[in-house]
Parts: sequence; C-alpha cells; structure tokens
Amino acid sequence: MKAHILTIGDELLIGQIIDTNAAWMGEYLTQNGVVVVGSSSTADEEESIRRAIDHALETADVILMSGGLGPTKDDITKKTLAEYFGLSMYFHEKTFENLTKIFARFGRSTTEAHKAQCYMPEGALIMENKRGTAPGMWFEKEDKVLVSMPGVPYEMKYLIKNEVLPKLLQKFKVSPSLYKTIQTAGEGESRLAARIGPYLDQLPKHLSMAYLPNLGKVRLRLGIKGTDLSSMRIELDDHVRNIVKMIPELVFGYDKDSLESVLLEVFKKNKLTLSTAESCTGGHLSHKIVSVPGSSAYFLGGLVAYSNEIKHQELKVKQETLQDYGAVSEETVREMVKGALKAFESDISVAISGIAGPTGGTEEKPVGTIWLAMGNNSNIRTYKLQLGKERLKNIEYTSNFALNKLRHFVLKNYSQEEEA
Ligand code: ATP
Ligand code: MG
Repeated sequence: MKAHILTIGDELLIGQIIDTNAAWMGEYLTQNGVVVVGSSSTADEEESIRRAIDHALETADVILMSGGLGPTKDDITKKTLAEYFGLSMYFHEKTFENLTKIFARFGRSTTEAHKAQCYMPEGALIMENKRGTAPGMWFEKEDKVLVSMPGVPYEMKYLIKNEVLPKLLQKFKVSPSLYKTIQTAGEGESRLAARIGPYLDQLPKHLSMAYLPNLGKVRLRLGIKGTDLSSMRIELDDHVRNIVKMIPELVFGYDKDSLESVLLEVFKKNKLTLSTAESCTGGHLSHKIVSVPGSSAYFLGGLVAYSNEIKHQELKVKQETLQDYGAVSEETVREMVKGALKAFESDISVAISGIAGPTGGTEEKPVGTIWLAMGNNSNIRTYKLQLGKERLKNIEYTSNFALNKLRHFVLKNYSQEEEA
C-alpha cells in the first residue's frame, strides 16, 4: 500500500503552526507497513486542494488528509471533496446527535451553524469521531481511497488508530517493514560513515540505512522489508549487532533512548550522585538532566555561575586563576569542579565555561571556545571544544557533549562492565 499525506491549512504554509500531523502519520503508518510515498501541504483553497489530490494520486493508492473540516468559513475541505467526487450533500443525523451530545455535556445548545456542519457527501463512508465534532470521511474511486480527517491532532490520531488504519489493512496488502535506531554520540556523520560505510554498502537491497545527525549525536536508522516479521527481526538484529561492534564506544542506546535517560541509568546502577557548575550553558545541562523522570535518584543540584564573582564566591575559584588564565580556561573549569564537589558533596561534578557567541571572542580565545571539566575527588578530566558562532547551537552541543563524556567517565572509572 502506497500512501500520500496531505495536510490542509493556510497556517501550515505561513509557518504559524508546525505540521506535526504529517510527522506523526508518517511514523505511525510506516511502523504499520504502509509505504509513505509523498507528503504535501496546501492552502484552504479549492483549486489548490484539487491539484494536490490529482498530483498525489499519480503515485499513491491512498491519500490521508487532515484539516479544514471545522464550521468556519475558511474550512472548505468537505465541500471541495464532495465536488471533486461528484457527490451531493445530505443531512447526517448521527453526526448531529453526536454534536448535540458533546454540546449538552458543556451545558450548551447547538446553533444553525452547527447544523450546517452536519451535511455530509452522499456515498462517502462517515467515520465516527469519538474525540470531537467533525467525523472522518472515506471516499473511494477506481481502487483508490481518500480519507479526510479533522486537523486537531488528537482527533486525527484517534481516527487513524481506530478507524482508518484497520480499514486500510483490510483493503490493501502491506509489505511489513521494521526499523531499529542505533543512537550514537561522539563522532560526526562523515567519520561514522568512514567506519561503517563499507559494511553498509554491501547490505542486501531489502535493508536500508539513514544517518540522522543532530548536534553531537547521530541516529542510525536501519530498516528492513520482507514478508515474515519474525525472520526479519532476527536479520535486523544481526546487522545491528555487527554495526555496533564496529563503533562500540559511540553507541549509547537504541530507539527512543536519549543521552539523558541513559545517564540516569548509568549513575543509578553505580549508585553515584552528580552536581553541575555551569557558566555559558546557563543551566541547560541541568535542564536536560532533570527532563528525565526519576533524575532525583542521582542529580543533587547545580549552580549557574555566570559571573566571575559567583565563580569565586560560591565555587572558590581563585582570583589569581581568573586573572591569570581567564574565566574560559582549563584552570578555571578544574577549580569549578572542585568547588562543586565540595559545595554539593556529590560523587561527581561537571563544570562548563566558554564563549557561546555570537560575539565576545578574542584572537586567543575565539567565539565558540568552551572548556569542560568533570571528575571526582581523585581524578578530573578536561576537554576543550572549538565550536561555531551560533549561541544556542553551542549551548546545545556542549550540553550533549557533557552528557556523553559523563557517561564515559562513569563507565571507565566505576563500572564493572567494559566501557561501551
Ligand atoms: P475542527 O473540526 O476541530 O475545527 P478542522 O478539521 O477544521 O478541525 P483545522 O481548523 O484545520 O481543523 O485545525 C484545527 C487546529 O488543529 C489548528 O488550529 C491547529 O492547531 C491544529 N492543526 C491543524 N492541522 C495541523 C497539522 N497539520 N499539524 C499540527 N496541528 C494541526
Ligand atoms: Mg482550518
């Protein structure tokens, strides 16, 4: 089954809202064996919608549409579709009953405008929407199917899961596919490709690989197509194992794992605690750490030591160190770690100080110079990063880098397991 995702709404084209419907549908359909051959967005405008449908039907068996079903004037999808398929409209009692019920629950009554919303194209299958007032509509023409759903994300998801996909699976054949994502950090895309590329080049045609880089991390998504799910799973797992063996130190997890969720596990397993002392990342690292539920099991706290005074007063960084070497220096981050270890009484601390940009650099320390230190009472490691000029990118990259190096630090210094 080949599907095209078509999202409707001016707001999508002008960037007022992000098209999360298309992203969700793409992921959900693919997981369920539907091949998504295209995706597009179009304005709330009849001619554009018609043209988008014609175009999509050139390659797809099924078009899944969302948006433009509401009661307001700008929502014209239903009328356009009725005309496109040459269907007249009729009053759909069940939709009106559903709408009246929903309104009664909020102590409100229906108006003429609501009644107008209950006219449906004769011949379309009306799919009950238990999450809202506008039902889904299923049209068929010459073995092709078009489904129109409301734009509100949780209504669309409800319809896809409970009505649309089950019906599509009855009508069309799907070729099952499976995916596994290997999560890596510590090398860029091209260096990774140099190490695993030769292996990937000789993979059989029913396997595919995608590199998805993102600021210090690269996701490797391996996919397989076939007919028998259990043998596909075995084959996919074999390849994943082989790839991981080539880059063991870079792999931190699989599928939905994140650096921060893996860090929690590593610290918990070794019964260790952590504190942070952040200058240029301004708490972003701590924010990432606490965004995982259960992080209180290891994270004691952190200090945003932005000014030199705070670095000195709260973390006991020496005035001479700040004067002689500067706030962005190996010596300073070392002392920040020592200060944090003492102040928070944690097993491990991490410190960051740098020039996030876009201005503020010198010849000796250009924008994007960032120092990190991490360690315990007997062993401190330092790192220097030389990044670009984009402030938020630098902050994000540095935080990811710190999470990954912390993971390595624990595995190397505490864990019985081999460093992975
Ligand atoms: P309703 O029947 O509830 O009025 P509708 O079919 O008319 O729904 P729209 O008016 O197009 O839907 O969109 C309703 C809301 O749903 C939008 O304001 C927007 O927040 C959200 N939405 C619509 N389309 C998308 C999309 N493609 N991705 C994410 N959100 C969307
Ligand atoms: Mg709309």
